[in-house]
Amino acid sequence: MSCIAVLNAGSSSIKLAAYSPAAQPALLVKARFEGIGVAPKALVFSPDGELLAQQSPGPVDHAGATRILIGMATAALGNPALDAVGHRVVHGGPGHAGPVLIDDALLAELERFVPLAPLHQPHNLAPIRALRAARPDLPQVACFDTAFHAGQSWVERSFALPRALTDAGVRRYGFHGISYDYIAARLRVLAPDLARGKVVVAHLGNGASLCAIDDGRSVASTMGFTAVDGLVMGTRSGALDPGVLIYLMDEYGLDARGIEDLIYKKSGLLGVSGISSDMRALRASDAPEARAAIALFVHRILREIGALAAVMGGIDGIVFTAGIGENDAATRAEVVAGCAWLGARLDDDRNAAGEIDLTAPGSGLRIMRIPTDEELNIARATVALTRDLPACDGATADVLIAAK
Ligand code: ADP
Repeated sequence: MSCIAVLNAGSSSIKLAAYSPAAQPALLVKARFEGIGVAPKALVFSPDGELLAQQSPGPVDHAGATRILIGMATAALGNPALDAVGHRVVHGGPGHAGPVLIDDALLAELERFVPLAPLHQPHNLAPIRALRAARPDLPQVACFDTAFHAGQSWVERSFALPRALTDAGVRRYGFHGISYDYIAARLRVLAPDLARGKVVVAHLGNGASLCAIDDGRSVASTMGFTAVDGLVMGTRSGALDPGVLIYLMDEYGLDARGIEDLIYKKSGLLGVSGISSDMRALRASDAPEARAAIALFVHRILREIGALAAVMGGIDGIVFTAGIGENDAATRAEVVAGCAWLGARLDDDRNAAGEIDLTAPGSGLRIMRIPTDEELNIARATVALTRDLPACDGATADVLIAAK
């Protein structure tokens, strides 16, 4: 048996998956490391979601967490031959509109975008670099969160800053593109008519954003230069008046790192509620602060849906995805209720049951719930780009451990 591995490293979590190297890759094993730096936990699942193994190790960094995860996943699989590795890379800069095969020149180019995504990009690139050092002949593929948005118009991409700054790359990029690309492909299967229309996809997880997709192409997104813009998130503030940052520097003596810590890690649902960044905990709480945090979360989504509908010149459907979008029926109900002016009507029973099509009879637009799968999207791209390459001699999955 051989496999391809997919690595998706976030700021405090790492996802790993192995697939059969077929044009339609089949999942072999999935593993997740949560709570790096807080409460570390590693979990390994079978393709049908059965928990195969778990560990709660002591404090580890990203490299240590990756090593533990790979050790557990390869133990579950029996150390299969490894054909290629696909990686989520958050920032591809302005030059990449799709996945690419990694070489040293690309790696050097991607290093330049570390300052644009300091909490993700270094963790995305470290395993690529280590693997290239250990097995330069092992094909590796980078899939970018920015790539799906590369075709947006100049006005959508630009800030009203002096032109030289825009030309130097200070512009909107948009993120969560691997997820949006997957949803756009699923829509072509599940609802071909809607896939040709104007859709707002709501990726609502710890990180949250909306994307306006017209005929399968990204037209606009709520995330901009960085992944802190736009909606209220688990611990990120979302859009802020930039004057707030200057005020915090002047009056509270915050420097760049202090502001980064505040707006990436201490704001959002956590900051507003003072209780938790986790939607489940907020829904379970009776505290007025929890209600207020959810109200702000939903309010920002509604404002941005209006903006994206305006940018597209209309809207034919809304798709909910990611942890909150897929699982929190109450958030879906509140968002759709706030879109009544657009003609949106939710079928409450279908919503409660978590079905895929949630549209009520007579609704002016389709309402859908489609689970995302970033790892499968990366696996497909990895197979497509490496299928015709010469076989990599004798690499087995444990090379991943040695390289960390
Ligand atoms: P990430 O951006 O880290 O991939 P996820 O997509 O896993 O995040 O989403 C995490 C969010 O999803 C958390 O706020 C969590 O509370 C929420 N979530 C997960 N399951 C449920 C559920 N059953 N009900 C409500 N919220 C949920």
